Amino acid sequence: MRKYLLLWLLSALLVIPLNAAEIKDNTLYLEVLLAEGKSLNLKSRDSSAAVLTITEINSPIVRQIEGKQLCISFMNRDKLPFWGFLNCIEPIGLHAMDEENVIRQTIVWEDGKLRLKNERMVFEPISFGNKDEALLYASETGIPTQQIRAIPMINATVKISTGANDYYFETPLHIKSEQDIQVGGMNLGFSGEFILKAMGENLVLTQYLSLEDYVGGVIQNEIGSNAPMEALKTQAVAARTHAIKLLLYNRHTPDGYDLCNGTHCQVYKGQHLSNANIRTAVSETAGEVLTMDGVIADATYHSSCGGKTDSSSNIWKGKPLAHLMGVTCISDAESLDLSTESGAKAWLNTKLSDPDASSWERASLNWSRQISRSKLANNLGLKSISKIEVLKRGNSGRIILMKISGNKTVTLDNEYKIRQAFGNVPSSFFYITSFGSTISLKGKGSGHGVGMCQVGVLRLARTGEQYPQILEKYYPGTTISRDWIEQ
Ligand SMILES: [Zn+2]
Ligand SMILES: [Zn+2]
Repeated sequence: MRKYLLLWLLSALLVIPLNAAEIKDNTLYLEVLLAEGKSLNLKSRDSSAAVLTITEINSPIVRQIEGKQLCISFMNRDKLPFWGFLNCIEPIGLHAMDEENVIRQTIVWEDGKLRLKNERMVFEPISFGNKDEALLYASETGIPTQQIRAIPMINATVKISTGANDYYFETPLHIKSEQDIQVGGMNLGFSGEFILKAMGENLVLTQYLSLEDYVGGVIQNEIGSNAPMEALKTQAVAARTHAIKLLLYNRHTPDGYDLCNGTHCQVYKGQHLSNANIRTAVSETAGEVLTMDGVIADATYHSSCGGKTDSSSNIWKGKPLAHLMGVTCISDAESLDLSTESGAKAWLNTKLSDPDASSWERASLNWSRQISRSKLANNLGLKSISKIEVLKRGNSGRIILMKISGNKTVTLDNEYKIRQAFGNVPSSFFYITSFGSTISLKGKGSGHGVGMCQVGVLRLARTGEQYPQILEKYYPGTTISRDWIEQ
């Protein structure tokens, strides 16, 4: 068994946070994951070579590297201690800075403010080149396997190869690119500041950017740059609030970054700074988040409610939240109780039209779908289906409990499972119009139906509503807060 003392590794350590969220000038800066792997490729996006300015964060070394394609990989991979045993995590004390340790940050909400808290990760002074060795050692010594962690490595040597030349640096690195570079296999360009670090067996590349720039990237994907300005501003506040909520979960803290760039957190694809409308919407709502009784609100959103939004407790079964109880989005639906079969059918048979809406918005107002009975059976692991019963609808009309009987009985107890079972239909707000060898559905809405309805936001923005009123409509009782960052 190969063992390495971790102490030599950490002895040269200047204290560096594992994830580098930071508060500067009343704005939050964060690290968003772009790519991770045993080696990483960066490519110039246009015909000229990429120029990267690379700085070792723990030393004065700065160097410019130029190349069409740059490959970053570990040196001495076989000698690196990738896995260790985490002994404990302690709040930072006064003498924290003079010991061998790794500092990480957690993000907390206290007394109406967001704060960064530093913690010290204390590892046992023994480490391993691969996880199997660590597991074996754990089983021999009785150390619980939950203590096995990828070691965030300070001063692992990486090689950056341009093809013509090789350059050597010690992690972590700050990388700056003025031009768009492509990262890994992504067909997207990113420019700005990046951080490269070694986390266990992987190199991790993050983009270091302000919360405001991140929000711009998210709303570009969510509502598009052609939306009316008040809709963009509404989406900016909701996306910013949702981002803070995600940061407070600290779910990527052990991974060495703050948020990932996929649907697990929010989709971030960069390239937002080129759009003037999005830039304006973000800057004119800068720092604005929704709070409820001094706590960050849950600003979840979806594509189209179909008439009324639903309550979070109907859809996700958590405890009811006062600002997510469901509201009427289209006033003609007000008088109908969509949780009843008769109310739901009456509304689903009401043809909605909106001449100002785009085609994707109109498509969510009335839709129909078909699925063969055998395909539905197959999706549910059944051989045959003889009966489908709607047992419960939420206040948006979405089916939240359904029983399907055939050679066996299957109960679907949430809207997402129902959507998936019927072939990924836009929402579970539908009724069955015919039940033969083909099952026909008539429906409205798209998405889970909780919180802000993007189609409704666009409609209100076109009629001249301002974003604070639009937010109040979908998240009643919330307040727009600007002073929530602890300096
Ligand atoms: Zn994530
Ligand atoms: Zn709506």
